[in-house]
Amino acid sequence: MKYISTRGANTHEAPQNFSDILLGGLAADGGLYLPETYPQVSPAELAEWRELPYAALALRILQKFVDDIPACDLKSLADRTYTANVYKHCRPGADASDITPLTTIEPGLHLLELSNGPTLAFKDMAMQLLGNLFEHVLAQRNETINILGATSGDTGSAAEYAMRGKHGVRVFMLSPHGLMSAFQRAQMYSLPDANIFNIAILGMFDDCQDIVKAVSNDAAFKAKYKIGAVNSINWARVLAQIVYYFKGYFAATRSNAEQVSFAVPSGNFGNICAGHIARMMGLPIRRLVLATNENDVLDEFFRTGVYRPRGAADTWVTSSPSMDISKASNFERFIFDLVGRDPAVVRELWAAVDAGGSFDLNGTPFMARLPEFGFVSGKSIHADRLATIRALWREHRLMIDTHTADALKVARENREAGVPMIVLETAQPVKFAETIQEALGCDPTRPADFDGIEQLPQRVTVLKADAAAVKALIAANC
Ligand SMILES: *Cc1c(COP(=O)(O)O)cnc(C)c1O
Repeated sequence: MKYISTRGANTHEAPQNFSDILLGGLAADGGLYLPETYPQVSPAELAEWRELPYAALALRILQKFVDDIPACDLKSLADRTYTANVYKHCRPGADASDITPLTTIEPGLHLLELSNGPTLAFKDMAMQLLGNLFEHVLAQRNETINILGATSGDTGSAAEYAMRGKHGVRVFMLSPHGLMSAFQRAQMYSLPDANIFNIAILGMFDDCQDIVKAVSNDAAFKAKYKIGAVNSINWARVLAQIVYYFKGYFAATRSNAEQVSFAVPSGNFGNICAGHIARMMGLPIRRLVLATNENDVLDEFFRTGVYRPRGAADTWVTSSPSMDISKASNFERFIFDLVGRDPAVVRELWAAVDAGGSFDLNGTPFMARLPEFGFVSGKSIHADRLATIRALWREHRLMIDTHTADALKVARENREAGVPMIVLETAQPVKFAETIQEALGCDPTRPADFDGIEQLPQRVTVLKADAAAVKALIAANC
């Protein structure tokens, strides 16, 4: 399997191997990598996969996309990544041997628990695999990498827990000073590992992201210090997420003749992009229900055909903060498929987006094809979130986090008779305790191994919002 860019296909650079694109970020032409074709799943494979435990299922799917890592190495990577020892924070009563247990709310409506990993958010599902893949590929090539990232909360902790102690990998993670919750700060800053560097920037999340961009745009520095990325455009993260759509499908159905729909709380379009690819591979997904919070750029597109990213100043700060995104970095992958995989069209559309503008597909043939892809969308705001959390607690004694609540609200608006709806549960309520307090008047339960983490010693360097200061810190520690 070779990989191409959404902007260049074969015109800008030759198709790449999986291991080559694993360590890089964007393609050289500014596009995102995708496989040349989507591998198809036959009815016989689907029948066999139904019974597999998570790690074995992950291996089958990885093998369809990765042909430059030997099968036995890939197997040991999948086995090490998807073990119950790593995903041990499941809801009381759920099957702890299952990496992603399914909880039924009422007949035909389910929660797929994706937040049982080390940092209690679904990003662990992909980041844990990335950590093991990085270590493997770097060892094979006798190389090292310095990961530079920016986080407003969930991504940074998931990346640090996945990379801690890994040979050949250092992590430099920028976060806005004083803006994360005490729990999120403690998760990141209390890690004792020598290869983890926390940098609190005197500024906002956007300042952190601007610094990452500035450092990555310095080609000489990037090459000298082997700067790499783990942000959500990384193809391996999308790939890892495909697996739980299959797992969720099998858990909610009895036969492969059935269809299901998935509801996905969305920001950067990474999670639901994996659902789109699972559907393109032949998994019987009827609808992909995209839920946004107040930042409704994606909902607007699926309702109107207009993609109108907002600037940072027009991004709402909400109680589902991991979706406070106004430019969905993975969306380009979907549009590539929608426009018939024509990189010239993508280049034209993103010339407008990259210049701070928008595009409108109305009146193009692509708009007529949009329904084939199964997307529907909706939006949930703070009051909806509180009402959803309260109702689920009152009626079912189930506590969910704010992002999952957004998805559940939009899922209920899009149910169809006879089609099970699976809501992806993307974080645990303890990460967003303030809003749980507001909704329910009590604190969410906290997994025992997080007791008192706020009291542990913390390691963080505070720097002003200046790329030169960050470069100096990287240089001093490499
Ligand atoms: C990152 C995140 C999301 C959004 O996922 P995308 O892949 O960016 O669409 C939703 N919920 C939680 C809890 C997250 O951490």
